Amino acid sequence: MNYISTRGDQSPKRFCEILLEGLAPDGGLYLPEHYPQVDAATLERWRSVYHQEGYAELAFEILSLYIDDIPVPDLRAICQKTYTAEVFGTGEIVPLRHLENGIWLEALSNGPTLAFKDLAMQLLGNLFEYELARRGEELNILGATSGDTGSAAEYAMRGKKGVRVFMTSPVNRMSPFQQAQMFSLMDENIHNIAVDGVFDDCQDMVKAVSNDLEFKRKYKIGTVNSINWARLLAQVVYYFAGYFQATEASTPSAELRTGGSARTEHQKVSFTVPSGNFGNVCAGHVARMMGLPIAKLVVATNENDVLDEFFKTGVYRVRTSADTHETSSPSMDISKASNFERFVFDLLGRDGARVKALFGDALARTGRFDLSQHPAFNQTTLRYGFQSGQSTHADRLATIKDSFERFGMLIDTHTADGVKVAREHLQPGVPMIVMETALPIKFAATIVEAIGREPDRPAKFVGIEALPKRVTRMAADVGAVKAYIAEHCA
Ligand SMILES: *Cc1c(COP(=O)(O)O)cnc(C)c1O
Repeated sequence: MNYISTRGDQSPKRFCEILLEGLAPDGGLYLPEHYPQVDAATLERWRSVYHQEGYAELAFEILSLYIDDIPVPDLRAICQKTYTAEVFGTGEIVPLRHLENGIWLEALSNGPTLAFKDLAMQLLGNLFEYELARRGEELNILGATSGDTGSAAEYAMRGKKGVRVFMTSPVNRMSPFQQAQMFSLMDENIHNIAVDGVFDDCQDMVKAVSNDLEFKRKYKIGTVNSINWARLLAQVVYYFAGYFQATEASTPSAELRTGGSARTEHQKVSFTVPSGNFGNVCAGHVARMMGLPIAKLVVATNENDVLDEFFKTGVYRVRTSADTHETSSPSMDISKASNFERFVFDLLGRDGARVKALFGDALARTGRFDLSQHPAFNQTTLRYGFQSGQSTHADRLATIKDSFERFGMLIDTHTADGVKVAREHLQPGVPMIVMETALPIKFAATIVEAIGREPDRPAKFVGIEALPKRVTRMAADVGAVKAYIAEHCA
């Protein structure tokens, strides 16, 4: 499988090259040359792979369609080492629970940092260690986080040979629990950098360093932000696992299997995905492009409604820092959605020049583009199944309280945004799976506000706020970050 850039660079690259590279040299994002197609027979085979051999083996099946430069036994071993009940708490890895009529929750948040990013990041940590050892190289990961990415990356990379992590985060924008999770790590290869600014200042610095090709090469800079294709690929797996659980739970399988036509008419499901940078739901898009029978992909945003606005109007408008709201679902507080370019590339018939014109200098200058008059725009729903909605702080509180009181299910603030929006997009007979992207303990203050008590805390996290912290504070200045990296790579 070869990979190409969304901005038109067609020089073919293999998986392990882009694994360590992140952003393409022309500023675009990598996508596979084509999406492997999964036919009905393969889908049914994967169903039994998941149920009988487990999530790790399902991951291996899917990954091996996209990764052909790691020997099969090695790739299988990496998947087996990553997706264990010890690391993810359950044998299903992403168990499905019934919430209410037609709505299911897929638990993506049982990993080491209690958020869905662990599912991709734990794999990335093992892929990095494998590939770096094979090459005899080192890698310095520079990242930006508003919370969950940073801790997931640090827990995945801590102690890994050949890897250092430099993680920038906006000062005092994370919850105390999130800060404690990250800053309490004492591993020598983990560096926390608190930046005077918002998340997008951090992300812009990471992009600026990545665009300085000389620095990037000299210091072997890589990224773990959601633009990394390997992360996106890892996330594709749990759309399949969710589908297998929901369709068995909701459809008598005999009905599906009777008659020749039934084989091609698979039961459909829909997903609602609490979204920020469009990484999670973009993996859903990839799964759908591969042939997974997904009816709708519903993008749920909070008050930072860049994506909801696009799907409703065709206008993509980047927000300024001042116009980026600080909300109680902070991992969705974005001013632009860095993975969105991947979907637009597909939407515009993979026209790299057009994507470059939209996302390159023009966007930096004007902060917006408008596809409302473009013939492709109405394909977002008709052909690609996307819909969207948004949720507010009041909605989160009401949804958390309601699910707790009526169903005894305590959900986190991001998942609550998803449930609120999912309820607006239900279709009779189509199971709606809401991605549970974090556990409530990460956002305890809002839970207290909603139900009047603290969420339960897993034993391993008791008292972490009181642990010593390891963090360096810095201005939002690319030069300062570069100097820090240079100093700590010596
Ligand atoms: C990162 C994150 C999101 C947003 O995911 P994207 O891939 O950026 O769209 C939603 N919820 C939680 C809890 C997260 O950590």
